[in-house]
Amino acid sequence: MPYPFRWFPARGERHAGRDSAPRLGFRAGTCVEALCGAALVAEEGAAAWLWPTCATC
Ligand SMILES: [Zn+2]
Repeated sequence: MPYPFRWFPARGERHAGRDSAPRLGFRAGTCVEALCGAALVAEEGAAAWLWPTCATC
């Protein structure tokens, strides 16, 4: 069964990625390929989750 995509913050926006991730999400510094096609380095922190959603994802 395919795992669902999960949201992660990077570069000022929240993106969705399909890479497998730890139960609690991507760790900061993890490179993730987002649904919009960008390879991004995931970030962490409560404020990061307030960033706007990536329109393409
Ligand atoms: Zn995106």
